[in-house]
Amino acid sequence: MAESQNIDLATFMEGTSRRNPGQHEFIQAVHEVAQDIFEFLADKPQYHEAQILRRIAEPDRIVSFRVCWEDDSHNVRVQRGWRVQNNNAIGPYKGGLRFHPDVNESILKFLAFEQTFKSALTGLPMGGGKGGANFNPKGKSESEIMRFCQSFMTELYRHIGPDVDVPAGDIGVGSREIGYMFGQYKRITGQFVGALTGKGIEYGGSMIRPEATGFGAVYFLREMLRHRGEDIEGLTATISGSGNVATHAAQKFVELGGKVVSMSDSGGFVHDPDGFDKEKIEWVRQHKTHRRGRISEYAEAFAGATFHNGARPWGLPCDVALPCATQNELDEHDAKALIANGCRAVCEGANMPSTQLAVTAFREAGILFGPGKAANAGGVAISGLEMSQNAARLSWEAERLEQMLLKIMQDIHARCLRHGTRADGSVDYVRGANIAGFKRVADAMLAFGIV
Ligand code: NDP
Repeated sequence: MAESQNIDLATFMEGTSRRNPGQHEFIQAVHEVAQDIFEFLADKPQYHEAQILRRIAEPDRIVSFRVCWEDDSHNVRVQRGWRVQNNNAIGPYKGGLRFHPDVNESILKFLAFEQTFKSALTGLPMGGGKGGANFNPKGKSESEIMRFCQSFMTELYRHIGPDVDVPAGDIGVGSREIGYMFGQYKRITGQFVGALTGKGIEYGGSMIRPEATGFGAVYFLREMLRHRGEDIEGLTATISGSGNVATHAAQKFVELGGKVVSMSDSGGFVHDPDGFDKEKIEWVRQHKTHRRGRISEYAEAFAGATFHNGARPWGLPCDVALPCATQNELDEHDAKALIANGCRAVCEGANMPSTQLAVTAFREAGILFGPGKAANAGGVAISGLEMSQNAARLSWEAERLEQMLLKIMQDIHARCLRHGTRADGSVDYVRGANIAGFKRVADAMLAFGIV
């Protein structure tokens, strides 16, 4: 073996940091995976010799482009759009589009890297990608959103397609934005094909796609608890976020007999000691998604609830925590507060919401920890099934799809157990997910030779 290929983790990470200066989120995501993979590969030189991890950590390509649009006051506005196509070893690139002012190349590279393992964990034929723009949808009119989406797709359409790359939604991109983008894709290409997922039911969308990520995260949490002989019934959860993932996770947690005591947005969190019931969760969904309101207004609408400006909910006593807002929203201090308050399980609905030190604290305390790439894979799984339905020109019923979602989450849990069970019977889900996802992609890459 050549000397340069026989490197240790520290040298590998030094190289990654040097090649990706200032890209903290990306380096963080690679480091988290590399720790487990280096250990796993100690007696498997074929992967090291073929530089598999190094190749997965170098996107196949990144497209960056200008997005020009006109606001309602006729000002010309200029944004930057991206698509990161990370890896298509096991299927077309797949991954959401994020519209948020903080979006940058580092964040999209971390998300596309994570997505590669997440897609692999589902067992479906999908690769990893991610895209988006530094566009802030907040406060924009309906026609401004439409014009932006159309302009964004006027460039993106060249790089996507049902067998090439199939984007979906993410933060700031819901069914409305997907509708505008799909309309523009169809108008430019003249083709009605499944080039996007998360579409409306009327034009090729899949039942339960909006629910899938949040429902799937709670199914994964239930599998982790059951493996320890516990269940959701009677447990109390703190949840962050109030968007697609958070509201559906809250809905399923309550349906399964649990109590949810918090939700949040970028302004702070609301604590409702009486619990968010079905009607209150629906109020949050309507208020945040359709009325574009702030979560602070919940405390004005419901007696007994309090709003905590600029704060996060991790100081509340709870049995389980479901971070469902954004990356790095739960740090070491929060993790220690959760553990001290009796939290027994953390399940990530968002992508990389826990910092690396927070993850270390959870692992050391021996509490259940479901990492996002496993726990929130339900969304991409149903997107994969949307692709299958589009290709077959069929639509399946909600009940059937929810059963398929449940089965996929149970299978992901089983894959994590296979590679993450320690000698004492406890489970390291981070290691299990990293190795199971890596192995599937890596074996396909080995079959292709040096490409
Ligand atoms: P939404 O846009 O529907 O909701 C995002 C939520 O997070 C909002 O409540 C938002 O509050 C909050 N938020 C955003 N930025 C911050 C911040 N800096 N601090 C605190 N809160 C913040 O997005 P989704 O629910 O779709 O996505 C949430 C997470 O789940 C993301 O990490 C995403 O990548 C991940 N995910 C989503 C999937 C999906 O199918 N949608 C699939 C897999 C993972 P505000 O309104 O104030 O901005």
